[in-house]
Amino acid sequence: MSCLDKIGKTATNTCKVTVCKTNKMAKRAKLKMHINECKEEIEDIYNKIGKKVYEKHVREENIDIKQDLKEECRKIDRYSKEIDSSIERILMLKDMKKCPNCFSEIMIQYNFCPNCGKKQYNIKPREEKIIEQLDETDIDDTNEKEAEIVKNEKEEFLENNE
Ligand SMILES: [Zn+2]
Repeated sequence: MSCLDKIGKTATNTCKVTVCKTNKMAKRAKLKMHINECKEEIEDIYNKIGKKVYEKHVREENIDIKQDLKEECRKIDRYSKEIDSSIERILMLKDMKKCPNCFSEIMIQYNFCPNCGKKQYNIKPREEKIIEQLDETDIDDTNEKEAEIVKNEKEEFLENNE
């Protein structure tokens, strides 16, 4: 068997795994891009808040945060939540989770946090929900093949966690 043949055989054997990995990496890249977009939006809102505050100063008016900056603060809250959930999804794709007590990144299968010892709750139902959410966000460019890979990933996850 020539060297090239061997490479070909190995490539075929690992093909499925590689596709799965690539798919996860693409999802991670997409989520990271989304986080950056959210951060940019937040920066933009910070600028708007600064401008509003300065304009109030020029007009020698008082600023009522609850009233005058209600919309801006609500938007920042929303983008921050979006960032948090994207970070959580990235961790899931790496088979990791965040300890709710000390915020350490730990393996998804751990029942106790190795850092602080806090008991971890089963997050299996949430993982399923997250995969579904990802499917929805992928609707534009999801073909049948990709949908099947996601399905396989889901089955794989369930098998590993039975
Ligand atoms: Zn912990």
